[in-house]
Amino acid sequence: MAKEKIKMTTPIVEMDGDEMTRVVWEKIKDICIIPFVDLKSEYYDLGIQNRDLTDDQVTIDSANATKKYGVAVKCATITPNAARVEEFGLKKMWKSPNGTIRSILDGTVFRSPIIVNGITPLVPSWKKPIVIARHAYGDIYSAVDCVVEAGSKAELVVTNPDGTQTVTVIKDFAKSGGIVMGMHNIDDSIESFARTCFEYALSEKMDLWFSSKDTISKKYDHRFKDIFAEMYENEYKEKFEQAGITYFYTLVDDAIARVMKSSGGFIWACKNYDGDVFSDMLATAFGSLAMMTSVLVSPHGYYEYEAAHGTIPRHYHKYLKGEATSTNPIATLFAWTGALRKRGEMDGLADLQDFADRMERATIELVESGYMTGDLALISTVEDKHVLNLDEFLTKVAEKL
Ligand code: NAP
Ligand code: MG
Repeated sequence: MAKEKIKMTTPIVEMDGDEMTRVVWEKIKDICIIPFVDLKSEYYDLGIQNRDLTDDQVTIDSANATKKYGVAVKCATITPNAARVEEFGLKKMWKSPNGTIRSILDGTVFRSPIIVNGITPLVPSWKKPIVIARHAYGDIYSAVDCVVEAGSKAELVVTNPDGTQTVTVIKDFAKSGGIVMGMHNIDDSIESFARTCFEYALSEKMDLWFSSKDTISKKYDHRFKDIFAEMYENEYKEKFEQAGITYFYTLVDDAIARVMKSSGGFIWACKNYDGDVFSDMLATAFGSLAMMTSVLVSPHGYYEYEAAHGTIPRHYHKYLKGEATSTNPIATLFAWTGALRKRGEMDGLADLQDFADRMERATIELVESGYMTGDLALISTVEDKHVLNLDEFLTKVAEKL
């Protein structure tokens, strides 16, 4: 009989997804998790068809379950655009599930690269990970926008608590039509963003950078800068000094210049859009999107783990034709280990935490010894390389474990 499986006490929330990552998801469970762990999970199918069927209620339910249990693991999901609406015959262009989940949990997304020997970052000075913290609320992600005709006038109207109105002209579109957008953020969310970043920096013992464009955006971005500065002065300055780490604010364009010259090893807190864009740049420069992990940390103590990449439709189409694909499962596997480790931490299950550590070590050692998927084989400098397909790679990880 096989060795007894590791027990769990509380479930993790399992959010299934779409296309190739849905295939990867099931294989990871079958090959790398279920043989070793007596898996307890509460399953939510966030695949596009089920989101459509439930009018997206399943996404909301899965976020609420995360509030109940504290830990979730999520598969990549399709964010529908016009082409996807047609492809799947959707009732409507459902919102991004990640956006919906983030606005319910009000968290910050921390993305960090998985570093392995033999894969050198495109920026040779980067020796340590650069962790991106993306503010996961507001700005253009929950903006309203419209197309306006020539001859229109756009105004920003705020109805104050006493009923009076403050009107600011945005643009008089006298001669030409155009576009206009209204976006917002709220102090509560910016504060919890700042707090989560300060706390995460302390827990990881890493310096914290924050950047925005306060010189141009004198009220909007300046608010972010002030909230961070005030909280740092009042609550974190001493703790940071004791921990031997620093907090540093700079303009976003100066930040990017400094990042390129740095050796890494810090957390870079970014506004929502900056974090979206720069995290893809960092992922590519550190090696591969398939080696980037992501965790949504909420100030209320909920954690949602996922891979940073999408559903990899190009590989899925090959898979549907019956071809073996060399899809890299590492980031999705590390989402599972991240969630199981956190579950173990919360429930005091040392063997579950140990399982997560060993699974990650086995994966990294496998790649360092030359066994990897095609995407990594292209960039790895290991001499004796063996390119494996998805099933072969996962099977080897499980064997090594
Ligand atoms: P993607 O799925 O990340 O794929 C882009 C390309 O990156 C792939 O074609 C592949 O390159 C490479 N790649 C990404 N992950 C890989 C892996 N694990 N192993 C090997 N190669 C990998 O991005 P996309 O094509 O822009 O988006 C596809 C769908 O995913 C969209 O519907 C989007 O809405 C969704 N999406 C979801 C999330 C999320 O749920 N968190 C995030 C981003 C995108 P090659 O083709 O060269 O092999
Ligand atoms: Mg992005």
